[in-house]
Amino acid sequence: MRTHSFHPPVRTLMGPGPSDVNPRVLEAMSRPTIGHLDPVFVDMMEELKSLLQYAFQTGNQLTMPVSGPGSAGMETCFVNLVEPGDKVIVCQNGVFGGRMKENVERCGGTAVMVEDAWGSAVDPQKLKDALQAHPDAKLVAFVHAETSTGAQSDAKALVEIAHRHDCLVIVDTVTSLGGTPVKVDEWGIDAVYSGTQKCLSCTPGLSPVSFSERAMERIKHRKTKVQSWFMDLNLVMGYWGSGAKRAYHHTAPINALYGLHEALVILQEEGLENAWARHAHAHRALLAGIEAMGLKFVVKEDERLPQLNAVGIPEGVDDAAVRAQLLQDYNLEIGAGLGPMAGKIWRIGLMGYGANPKNVLFCLGALEDVLSRMRAPIERGAALPAAHAALGAA
Ligand SMILES: *Cc1c(COP(=O)(O)O)cnc(C)c1O
Repeated sequence: MRTHSFHPPVRTLMGPGPSDVNPRVLEAMSRPTIGHLDPVFVDMMEELKSLLQYAFQTGNQLTMPVSGPGSAGMETCFVNLVEPGDKVIVCQNGVFGGRMKENVERCGGTAVMVEDAWGSAVDPQKLKDALQAHPDAKLVAFVHAETSTGAQSDAKALVEIAHRHDCLVIVDTVTSLGGTPVKVDEWGIDAVYSGTQKCLSCTPGLSPVSFSERAMERIKHRKTKVQSWFMDLNLVMGYWGSGAKRAYHHTAPINALYGLHEALVILQEEGLENAWARHAHAHRALLAGIEAMGLKFVVKEDERLPQLNAVGIPEGVDDAAVRAQLLQDYNLEIGAGLGPMAGKIWRIGLMGYGANPKNVLFCLGALEDVLSRMRAPIERGAALPAAHAALGAA
């Protein structure tokens, strides 16, 4: 059999990521590949670092993209900061907190779990109690924006509590970066990782990370070697570090980095505050439309993420059938629920380039059509006018 070139369909991606990629990013990625030690490329890396510092709102010297998806950024934080025998407090309120626990244990650490219900924010009081009960804890880790449920936690408050107990803090901002405020320096975050395929609207496969001086000190003075050669920051710094000799560590994903550079230039052109406001605006319109249809958001109002909207699936409606119909008839992808929320929620992403009125109206119209044809118990004809009104209210 002769295999031909692969041409994917043009979809609208409104799930939990990847999100719609800005065409400017795709165009940037198709530019000529040059050597990863080429002086022109090295200049681009310097720009990329300062663009990431802007996105994270930090002056941290060690701010760079890890060559790998968000999960690789997560692992980079844990393997460098956790040593065998370390006690780490992990706050869990969804899927990704569970992965943090897994990371701690694979590093030989002990994870003390602080659990909150899926769909709720992390409760600061529970973290306080855990720190009091475990004064020997060295690290606290939590997810700022839980993509599995659409809940946002108060990162600033949680970091403050952890610091009062002399713990360093690892924060997952994969879904928050670019969509809602992430202020690494102001909040005092010690280690942070994100992803390119959510609110930065870049292709998947890179993970921006940033480490404070305190975190770097901890890493430099480890008693044991980082067990991952690839992710050992002491080695990676020879390539990405300031004043580094750009020694070969691994071949950087050249064209992927062009894409991230472009995505961050786009973010800088718009301005972070404007990007946050755009996400909030699109979210309010989607919310108005969903509620007018008679459907409900599952996360309570003051804990909702604008970029990840968890909508309850009405009684008797076949989750998978609806998503399949949306994909088939509208080339529209929305996300399913995970774990205990499987079959109970849809996750509608309004991330980065996709957080706009056009996508909101398209999604509401498509969802209403598919649900109506399935005779689901929804209010017809109300969603679009409600969304239009919310969009006009600015
Ligand atoms: C998507 C996501 C990740 C993992 O990112 P990948 O790029 O899929 O590896 C980690 N944490 C959160 C909160 C996410 O949403």
